[in-house]
Amino acid sequence: MKIGFIGLGNMGAPMATNLAAAGHEVAGFDTAAPMPEGVTAAASAAEAATGADVVITMLPNGQILRSVAAGVIPAMRKGAILCDCSTVDVDSARAVASEATAAGLGALDAPVSGGIGGAQGGTLTFMVGGSDADFKAVRPLFDIMGQKAVHCGDPGAGQSAKICNNMILGVTMIATCEAFALADKLGLDRQKMFDVVSTSSGYSWSMNAYCPAPGVGPKSPADNDYRPGFAAELMLKDLNLAHMAAGSAQADTPMGQLARQLYEDFVEREDGLGRDFSAMLPRFVARNR
Ligand code: NAD
Repeated sequence: MKIGFIGLGNMGAPMATNLAAAGHEVAGFDTAAPMPEGVTAAASAAEAATGADVVITMLPNGQILRSVAAGVIPAMRKGAILCDCSTVDVDSARAVASEATAAGLGALDAPVSGGIGGAQGGTLTFMVGGSDADFKAVRPLFDIMGQKAVHCGDPGAGQSAKICNNMILGVTMIATCEAFALADKLGLDRQKMFDVVSTSSGYSWSMNAYCPAPGVGPKSPADNDYRPGFAAELMLKDLNLAHMAAGSAQADTPMGQLARQLYEDFVEREDGLGRDFSAMLPRFVARNR
């Protein structure tokens, strides 16, 4: 396929390289990042999109996505598909999809999980919103960049799935960290705490696969001085998106809201910026009621 790839940062660069390595013709554009291996430089986003079968965007936020889409949509040929892989607010995802559809294009929102390692290794998971036909057409590209693609429903459904998942993740990580800190103060050994909880009803991905206590459970960022991993500010971004979506949908999400507030304090007023999101554990340990 002929692919336009816009946004070649930490995630977009390895994704574009993997598509090129699989034999696709990739034209790339980024306002700052260098061209990754295998990607031909375009002079603008519109130039990267011209003549492409699929245009993929991997951008920082919904506002930038909207402005890039406004330039790219008129340049795309009828029937081509605009596939946004960024994590953005549900309203922006839906707005861009409806503009693309009105211009005779296909549109998918396809945010990912798996992080930079998953982008490099081609093992991302894609959560996809849009039509069946568009999903089927882009699926071969998802299969190159990732190991799993789930068609979640109509436009916006991919972003909805992503932020609901990450809201659970933020809440369970905080619950796991505050429970470890309580266990410490009760004199309970951390390894014993892990042995019980990881095989009892308190188990979760945060405890079992990404244990926030150093030296306990599988290797995780806690064992690397809480270097990310998944940075606290990226968790805050996703919790802010969940908060916006809850506002638009009039959904009551008190735990998500509290997790958002705690990560905001951690990133903006404590020492959380640039640390892994599991560094909530030393934060709770250092605090007393
Ligand atoms: P990044 O900041 O490394 O890359 C974004 C790129 O977009 C940058 O190179 C920037 O120069 C470029 N850009 C900004 N405005 C542009 C414009 N108008 N036109 C063209 N290019 C423009 O960010 P990233 O880590 O690659 O993340 C990209 C998206 O993926 C974000 O939405 C993020 O939330 C999501 N995501 C990131 C991770 C992760 O672990 N990094 C994991 C899952 C999802």
